[in-house]
Amino acid sequence: MPFPRGIVCMPEQHSEFPVTRSFHSPASSPATCCPKDVLRPELLDWSSYHVPDSSGMVKLDAMENPYSLPAELQREMGTILARAPINRYPDAGCTALKSRLRDYLSVPNGCEILLGNGSDEIIQILCMAVARPGATIMGVEPSFVMYRVSAAAAGATYVSVPLTDDFQLDLQQMLEVMRNRRPALVFLAFPNNPTGNLFRRADVMQILDAAPGLVVIDEAYHAFARQSLMSELVSRPNLLIMRTLSKLGLAGLRLGMVVGRSAWIAEFDKLRLPYNVNVLSQLAADFVLSHVDLLERQAEQLLLERQCIIDALQGTPGVQVFPSDANFVTFRVADACAVFDGLKQRQVLIKNLHLAHPMLRNCLRVTIGTPAENRMFLHALNELDWIRENVHVG
Ligand code: PMP
Repeated sequence: MPFPRGIVCMPEQHSEFPVTRSFHSPASSPATCCPKDVLRPELLDWSSYHVPDSSGMVKLDAMENPYSLPAELQREMGTILARAPINRYPDAGCTALKSRLRDYLSVPNGCEILLGNGSDEIIQILCMAVARPGATIMGVEPSFVMYRVSAAAAGATYVSVPLTDDFQLDLQQMLEVMRNRRPALVFLAFPNNPTGNLFRRADVMQILDAAPGLVVIDEAYHAFARQSLMSELVSRPNLLIMRTLSKLGLAGLRLGMVVGRSAWIAEFDKLRLPYNVNVLSQLAADFVLSHVDLLERQAEQLLLERQCIIDALQGTPGVQVFPSDANFVTFRVADACAVFDGLKQRQVLIKNLHLAHPMLRNCLRVTIGTPAENRMFLHALNELDWIRENVHVG
């Protein structure tokens, strides 16, 4: 039963018997009722997650895998999906997919998988689960924005510790904040987005040792970093490993997951909406994962391309490149907004990080695309020499 005991559901109200409301605003009446009278006040100041229009662009802004499936596999998948029982609710337990994922992820005994509509949904579930009154959730900055957003949405306090200048963990600072604020949950993206680097493993271990609550290692970019803390689940009861199929080539299916000790996963499962993974996503993911070697070859290709992009950027005057363990490269120029706009005029869409965080001043992030897309990006960038001329990076 996914809902808390003790909540009595009334039979549906007939329209003749309007529900009496007890909202705080004394002025509120059905005719004047508006968001500010009814909604959480902080919500009015937030903004929606913005996704820029990318039609007609070389799309290198969202860490997607640029390769599609070969035509033969597309046809095979088409046949499977055409037979999907879309008139029925999907398998709520995602049994077949989970059993394939257990093998693929090397989930240790005693651990379970919780699937979400992207790892975004998993982040939301985890935040809701720990959001006792006064709860704190901790992260680092700059990092993936949804940790902060979901913590706030769950009503928890989010505290973040700035990374060092080389985008590593500031261990002393983090240990002190953990001592003082006792976070129920710590999020660490490994590798980190938007900086692209892995944190030092020994530092991550120290965080795990010192954390008073759960530590989520978000391995969204695992396919490109090839480092994982999955095997640490055996010895570390406060560890959760998060993964996604999005960066591997299945972003459109929206499938993310968290792996942890069974006792944790059983509790998180109570917050999962019934049937959160639809039947087409379950079938398509199960099918594609039966050809996972193909996705892995695509990831290999992207790693080679990543090196080409890094080399080219390093050889471009006025560009400072940061190390990457992911399928994107973050770099700094003299004027990120001008470079971003110049690329956009040339139909190349990347991500402008300039306003995302003070440490990302004049930074841009490019996702690794196909060789042709990468060439178009580099070609367009080289046309922008006039933008960089005589200006020092920094
Ligand atoms: N974690 C990190 C570090 C990310 O960068 C992203 C997406 N960019 C996600 C999680 C969310 O991925 P998804 O919801 O597509 O699974």
